[in-house]
Amino acid sequence: EKNYILVSACLLGDNCKYNGGNNYVEHIERLKERYTIIPCCPEVLGGLTTPRAPAERIQEYVRCASGEDVTKEFHRGALMALALVEKYHCRYAVLKSRSPSCGKGQIYDGTFSKRLVDGNGVTTELLLKHGIQVYTEHDIENNIL
Ligand code: SF4
Repeated sequence: EKNYILVSACLLGDNCKYNGGNNYVEHIERLKERYTIIPCCPEVLGGLTTPRAPAERIQEYVRCASGEDVTKEFHRGALMALALVEKYHCRYAVLKSRSPSCGKGQIYDGTFSKRLVDGNGVTTELLLKHGIQVYTEHDIENNIL
């Protein structure tokens, strides 16, 4: 039986992105040869609607450009993602780069000006803390494919 792997739902083509679109990448399909995929959108699981206002991380907070604080929803979503990972004993997650939930290594800097800073999304941070190996759609080729 194949191992389970958590994957950002938007990478699989689900229209759960803030603007109602998705971030489908074709090579994500190759994961299916080796893993059983558990799709996960932490922002939706955390109770946010689609479409929704884009949000960015500023240190421990997550805010929309309007100033609305969505930190609580992002944390709830991260906990739900962790619950899925634990339920299915996933060792790996493939999460969408640069997202305030799913980004790894680099995320937008909180000024809504497309500038990147070093850091992880809220869900990525929690999964890493629990020993899950997190990859983005850009670095799976040389690692788990
Ligand atoms: Fe994709 Fe993650 Fe954003 Fe959901 S929270 S739309 S899975 S990047």
